[in-house]
Amino acid sequence: MMAEPIPDVLVIGGGNAALCAALTAREQGASVLLLEASPRAWRGGNTQHTRNLRCMHDAPQDVLVDAYPEEEFWQDLRKVTAGHTDEELARLVIRESATCRPWMRSHGVHFQPSLSGALHTARTNAFFMGGGKALVNAYYRSAERLGVAIRYDTAVDRLELDEGRFVAAFAGERRIAARSCVVASGGFESNRDWLRQAWGRDARGEYPAEQFLIRGTRFNTGVLLRHLLDCGADSVGDPTQAHMVAIDARAPLYDGGICTRIDCVSLGVVVNRDAERFYDEGEDFWPKRYAIWGRLVARQPGQIAYSIIDAKALGRFMPPVFPGTRADSPAQLARALGLPEERLVATLRDYNRACRGGAFDHTRLDDCHTEGLRPAKSHWARPLDTPPFLAYPLRPGVTFTYLGLRTDRSAAVRFGGRASPNLFVAGEMMAGNVLGQGYTAGVGMSIGTAFGRIAGRQAADAARRARHVGA
Ligand SMILES: Cc1cc2nc3c(=O)[nH]c(=O)nc-3n(C[C@H](O)[C@H](O)[C@H](O)COP(=O)(O)OP(=O)(O)OC[C@H]3O[C@@H](n4cnc5c(N)ncnc54)[C@H](O)[C@@H]3O)c2cc1C
Repeated sequence: MMAEPIPDVLVIGGGNAALCAALTAREQGASVLLLEASPRAWRGGNTQHTRNLRCMHDAPQDVLVDAYPEEEFWQDLRKVTAGHTDEELARLVIRESATCRPWMRSHGVHFQPSLSGALHTARTNAFFMGGGKALVNAYYRSAERLGVAIRYDTAVDRLELDEGRFVAAFAGERRIAARSCVVASGGFESNRDWLRQAWGRDARGEYPAEQFLIRGTRFNTGVLLRHLLDCGADSVGDPTQAHMVAIDARAPLYDGGICTRIDCVSLGVVVNRDAERFYDEGEDFWPKRYAIWGRLVARQPGQIAYSIIDAKALGRFMPPVFPGTRADSPAQLARALGLPEERLVATLRDYNRACRGGAFDHTRLDDCHTEGLRPAKSHWARPLDTPPFLAYPLRPGVTFTYLGLRTDRSAAVRFGGRASPNLFVAGEMMAGNVLGQGYTAGVGMSIGTAFGRIAGRQAADAARRARHVGA
């Protein structure tokens, strides 16, 4: 039997970052093999669920209105991460985001303007026509056409390394050698034991992570991330940091995707199971704040909360997939939700009395705020006084974790501060270099696209060098 030829570049993972790396390496003339843990029907990881990427631009560009200059993008990122970001790598991502769309189009991705109700993103985010699933399918089609070899149902569990140099990958007993490698197998959000261990036990004796729901794929178990960290790869980020959204508590454990997000938080109030408010629901525009609410709910007793609105909010937010609990009065709502009735009635009464100001306008930071209330509601504070009242139960929904591999401009994996000559990383597996904490919508795909393409180019170069020395 003939031995299979050794590919130039092995790409591990099957989402956006892996596909960008595979396509780019192939464009550079490398032979490429891509290994995806999932079956074909579930290919594409969390990328299947995405809708857009954040793009810098200095003037209106096809689907993007106005301008979103580098400095503003950088300040947005600096603010949401509270400075926990690597400025050099962040600016690299920002600049790449200005030029990647023609390349994406050349591989079959189509864009469309922001939909109404889509987090005020017409200026900053380019939306994929057909969503992330269409993007994934387009990239796989393009990869097949260009001759990238693809194996599904192939979960890599370890690598063979020689002092930081990639030699081969193992999927069970199967050994797959290559001249260079890109790891892009996502975070560890679907590894429930790792999440439980990272979050530990809180002061109430609860294990918060036991109540977390995973918004995306069940295949991002972090096996390869764990393995590389155990092999001495340099890490970045904190294992408890993640993109965590408050989602409908009735969502499935995995792959609930975008439609389980509850987007009416800034239009009403949020209470915990003691019927107490615990955070400013109107602190800032929802796209800049939606990703803190998963953590906020995670810190509440029982890791559950309820987003409450009245009839005035209806039609002003993206309708969630599950219907809200309806009631004609706060007391009836409390009974329907099983919340302490007197407490909820008092919480809403205190909130209503504290509402001040003027002209409600959900498209700007308006002057409707509370006075003398703790926590305050800074904007869009209108009394909840018009039945029907609606409530949506909230649980922490993990989008992706931030603990990852430290890297540099070349996307190299680093061991003890030294860059590997032929092992590169992209996507969620290194997003923590740019996102130490917090999030701003669409930046996950910007990071994965920028670093996927860098890693693909670097891996192709490394393979070329290896060919010259006869490896
Ligand atoms: C519901 C939802 C909505 C989102 N919306 C957006 C959005 O609109 N814009 C945005 O920028 N970001 C969004 N994100 C975040 C976005 O999904 C990620 O930033 C991005 O897709 C990451 O790409 P990736 O390739 O690193 O990971 P993924 O797309 O998750 O791909 C990881 C791949 O690795 C494979 N894999 C895992 N382990 C192994 C293994 N051991 N061996 C082989 N393969 C393995 C998985 O099967 C998967 O194919 C969203 C995420 C979710 C869950």
